[in-house]
Amino acid sequence: MRKTVVKAGSVLIGDNSHIVIQTMCNTPTQDIDASFEQCVKLSIAGAEIIRLTTQGYKEVEALKVIKEMLRKKGIHTPLVADVHFSPDVAKAAAMVADKVRINPGNFSKDHTLATKRFVELTDICKQHGTALRIGINHGSLGDRIIEKHGDTPAGMKESAIEWIKMALSNNFDQIVISLKSSNTLVMAQAYRLLQDEFKKTGLAFPLHLGVTEAGNGEYGRIKSAVGIASLLNYGIGDTIRVSLTEDPENELPVARFIADYSFEFRKNKAEIPFDIIGSNPVVCRLSYKCKTWSDFILSASCDFGPLLLDKKIDDIEIQLVCDEKYEKSDISRFRDELLQASRRVFSKPEYIACPGCGRTTFNLETVFNEVKRRTAHLTGYNIAVMGCIVNGPGEMADADYGYVGESRNKVSIYKGRVPVFRAVPENEAIDILLKIIEEDIQNKSDKI
Ligand code: SF4
Repeated sequence: MRKTVVKAGSVLIGDNSHIVIQTMCNTPTQDIDASFEQCVKLSIAGAEIIRLTTQGYKEVEALKVIKEMLRKKGIHTPLVADVHFSPDVAKAAAMVADKVRINPGNFSKDHTLATKRFVELTDICKQHGTALRIGINHGSLGDRIIEKHGDTPAGMKESAIEWIKMALSNNFDQIVISLKSSNTLVMAQAYRLLQDEFKKTGLAFPLHLGVTEAGNGEYGRIKSAVGIASLLNYGIGDTIRVSLTEDPENELPVARFIADYSFEFRKNKAEIPFDIIGSNPVVCRLSYKCKTWSDFILSASCDFGPLLLDKKIDDIEIQLVCDEKYEKSDISRFRDELLQASRRVFSKPEYIACPGCGRTTFNLETVFNEVKRRTAHLTGYNIAVMGCIVNGPGEMADADYGYVGESRNKVSIYKGRVPVFRAVPENEAIDILLKIIEEDIQNKSDKI
């Protein structure tokens, strides 16, 4: 299989030498000083590629200035313009950024028009040596694909294939593909289907991996490790982003750990040395010796997550020697979270929370922690907290309920895909979200 190596500025993606790690600023790109400062910090912290929100022409101009400031300071980390909807903004961004991230299905509802705009964009990319990420997200597939394949991993794969073919027919191959979902199983299946297609055709493109809206804290890290390792361990994936609803600097050590751990695993074609201590269900036992608790949860998630996700094992038993103090209850909490992240046993609500970016209009991390605190009893529900109304609703595909930033101090409350309350003042929004969920639970129990 021949894989195209993609050049984003000075960084090569897909040359099999290592896994490129990346992150995204959460500052408004128009705030040039704050975005510049954050890019400096992120690049010192190890980001090999940095993405910035680029929703309009003002952001493209700001990106240009930020890039010049960074280069003057001797920082050559490639910058990616994150453009979702506007093909014209994408074209302007392609003259400035090292790489542009688009979801071409959003370019127009009319597929012929979307195609025309995509071809124009690839022309500009060719002229300026700009790479392109075709970012397909579960939950935001075009109507045409959904009609044929549903909002499924197969649909995500088909969508990617269509745009790849279109790029190639215009002699443009500097494309990286992502097929993200906040559901680890959907995400793993979509990438595996695409990799199978690559094998069939003999022509492959670099893959950008990530579990979208993974949330924060320990669970966000476990979920990211499960999804990403289930692909990286088996040779799928060239660049990763761990999306956490935290300071983007926190994403980098997690991403580096997962990338290095899984890359070693796949290079050595390693077998995990566990003992099987039960056959129905299949329970595995493994001993770890780790310096930190964080190293432990990431190692064990990379080892066991893929096996749980693929139903090769059903449960785990851990023996841990760790330089950091931990309690027995920490191990059992980790086991519960790993089983949930691998979509085997749900013991608490499943949260979908975006990492936030320049489009976010409220303190996402604080609100998300408060939503988690107040909904912790709602096991079995999927609850989303999304930073903006532009992309949030499309990207919270599996959510039963959603808290979505609408504008400054205003929030929309969603039930499934439907906004049931709009422009709710921020200080009332969590109460309203809870009220709706509790009314639904009451209605359900009245019917029984
Ligand atoms: S959903 Fe969140 S991360 Fe995505 S564009 Fe909106 S604010 Fe940014």
